Amino acid sequence: MKRIYILGAAGSIGEQTLDVISQMPDAFQLVGISLSTDHYKNQSILDRFQVEICCLRVSDDLPFYEHKYPNVQFVIGDQGLLDIASYPKSGILVNALSGSAGLKPTMRAIESGKDIALANKETLVMAGDLVIEAIQKYGVKLLPVDSEHSALWQTLKGESMDDVLKIIITASGGSLRHLDRYQLDNVTLSDALKHPNWSMGAKITIDSATMMNKGLEVIEAHHLFGLPYDQIETILHDESVVHGFVAFKDGTMKASLSVSDMRIPIAYALHYPKRVDYPHHLELSNLSFKPMDFDRFPLLKLSYEVGKTGGLLPTVMNAANEAAVKLFIHGDISFLEIESIIIFCIQPLKKSSKPIDPFKNTSRMFTERGKSCSSLTSSFSS
Ligand code: MG
Repeated sequence: MKRIYILGAAGSIGEQTLDVISQMPDAFQLVGISLSTDHYKNQSILDRFQVEICCLRVSDDLPFYEHKYPNVQFVIGDQGLLDIASYPKSGILVNALSGSAGLKPTMRAIESGKDIALANKETLVMAGDLVIEAIQKYGVKLLPVDSEHSALWQTLKGESMDDVLKIIITASGGSLRHLDRYQLDNVTLSDALKHPNWSMGAKITIDSATMMNKGLEVIEAHHLFGLPYDQIETILHDESVVHGFVAFKDGTMKASLSVSDMRIPIAYALHYPKRVDYPHHLELSNLSFKPMDFDRFPLLKLSYEVGKTGGLLPTVMNAANEAAVKLFIHGDISFLEIESIIIFCIQPLKKSSKPIDPFKNTSRMFTERGKSCSSLTSSFSS
């Protein structure tokens, strides 16, 4: 029986991880979870699973939960995530947090000897070199959960990386793929949240619409598979059936295909190296592929440049993206301003190779535009 911890258990990936665990309850013991501010969801999870430790977002909720679940140890906030990561029992920590909040708990869990099932790509974008170094130092496993990276991991199984010519990550194009750049001016939040193939959280769905998600995934793949950026390609694939290709030096190409269901890569990571039954098998139909359009999706092109430059630039890009997406979700900026903010934050650093203060630059832009910058700077600091 494998011990499992889930950070972000009430989110989209977290709930699908709970589904995977429920399907084979004898295979897993859910030891620790972090929850949301949605009390209905939180209680439904705590009623179904007998966990030992649980992280709540805010301390105000503590008396209620401690009274209702007296056998659970409750911890709070960011420190609580670290408490779960360092809980003194080995196991797999599923990091299903959204955004940069995932980094510190991942590092703490590695240092505590836990294997990491990583759905939080921002962790590798921000600190891939440090994370990979820590994984090797502490001798734990890093199990990809992102569907494309799981596909590549499966496709590379038994192969030598010396034989790999390149890997190709597929991209659906996201919710706004049918629009050209001129039509992106007036898209609404609800337009951007309608992903054609995947059921995911708000942040990653917006990232898919801007193609920043694919940019983050290229950087994630660079760290996971140790390949240079010129051996990592992206391709447009409407159906999200093929998740990744590996091209080998001998002219052979392998691919991994499945229905678009995150429970498949989650189950592969949790049951690894075993495969388990899944009820919905793929029926093959027409599959379409198109070359990536870097003019339509400039943030993907930027991500390659940022990844190649390395250093702190991926961290700055990730922070700018997180802040900009938060502003878009709150209705403070337009869809295209997500791109503008990220490019604005990155440009000075690219030109000068000197560290920049993202607060200062974006504040200046917002002041120039006559808008309040307070919400943006608070996004950066939160
Ligand atoms: Mg993905």
